[in-house]
Amino acid sequence: MLIAGGRVLVDSGTYLEDGAVLIEGDSIAAVGPRKEIEEQFGADVPRFAFDGTVLPGLIDAHVHLAFDGGPDPVATLQDSTDEVLFEDMRRRAEQLLHSGVTTARDLGDRGGLALRLAAEINGRHTPGPRIVAAGTPATTTGGHCHFLGGEVSGEAEIRDLVRRNLAAGAGVIKAMVTGGGLTKDGPKSHQSQFTAEELTALVDEAHEAGVPVAAHAHGADGITAAVEAGVDTIEHCTWMTSDGLDFRPNVVRQIIAQGISVCPAVSPHWQMLPRFFGEERAAAMFDLVRRMADAGVRLVAGTDAGVQRASFDGLVPALSFYSHLGLPNASIIDMATSEAATALGLGSITGRVAPGYRADLLLVDGDPLADLGSLKDIRAVFASGLRYEPNAQ
Ligand SMILES: [Zn+2]
Repeated sequence: MLIAGGRVLVDSGTYLEDGAVLIEGDSIAAVGPRKEIEEQFGADVPRFAFDGTVLPGLIDAHVHLAFDGGPDPVATLQDSTDEVLFEDMRRRAEQLLHSGVTTARDLGDRGGLALRLAAEINGRHTPGPRIVAAGTPATTTGGHCHFLGGEVSGEAEIRDLVRRNLAAGAGVIKAMVTGGGLTKDGPKSHQSQFTAEELTALVDEAHEAGVPVAAHAHGADGITAAVEAGVDTIEHCTWMTSDGLDFRPNVVRQIIAQGISVCPAVSPHWQMLPRFFGEERAAAMFDLVRRMADAGVRLVAGTDAGVQRASFDGLVPALSFYSHLGLPNASIIDMATSEAATALGLGSITGRVAPGYRADLLLVDGDPLADLGSLKDIRAVFASGLRYEPNAQ
């Protein structure tokens, strides 16, 4: 398959005008000026020609396929049998794919269902994005998302849970380092979970297998503890305390020095946040994300799809948050492609339109560097070389 586009995003903020991408099997075989690629690879190859933009498929670095994105995702989950839930998860994965997402990181499911779905998609039995799944997130007794089955206490139990997730195929290990709003009967979002020893054991066990650790952390103390334990990504990273926010520049410097990525996991409906937190607090929280960006923290895009009001087609609307902060479109697209791939440990596999990379591509009308909204005008999505046209009649 030869894709010829008006422009191909070949590097951060850089188009190749009138470019072409040659796909062989599940990978990109060549990228170059259309004429050159056409001459080199003959006329026999089936082609997809249009005058829009070819860019890397998007990456949503924070989803929960097990949650339904409705008003009470926990209740819906608890009312579903595994069989019903798995069918719903298949549908949600397809929604992600149809919104341009070719890789999604699932940061906590029930019973390893996201791992099962990841294998199904990988085996081409079901359409969907590549799924990097955490399996059962580690939490404390009665802690955040305890209902997902990952309550552990002490080093031995923690190492055991990590090993079980790894054996089931987890591509990331998730630790609930603080409480969270979804768990009404758990610790508050700013409160820490786990001791330093427990966190270190978790990171050690995951890293020994070469698998990164994602830390859910809202509280400033939890963020600090996660950084000290050597996690690879921090989710949310809102710097909360019992009575406000506590941005810690020295910890931010450590985040940068250690190459830790931060996924703010901003909701597609981020414009509603001032109504929940109040104008002033929401503005202060937004400002901390801007300060992290300004300091040079690697930010990656994610939506927390599945939690309240976060649907599985919300990545592009969520990206408008970063425009609101004043980030340039080129950086925002990187956050949802190359930077996210790096954060997931897939930096040499996906997130770029380059030879040797997996054929994970998004074809849109218009010019997303000029207008991010054009990411919604999808002509086709290629996931590991398989073509989908969600808007075709
Ligand atoms: Zn989450």
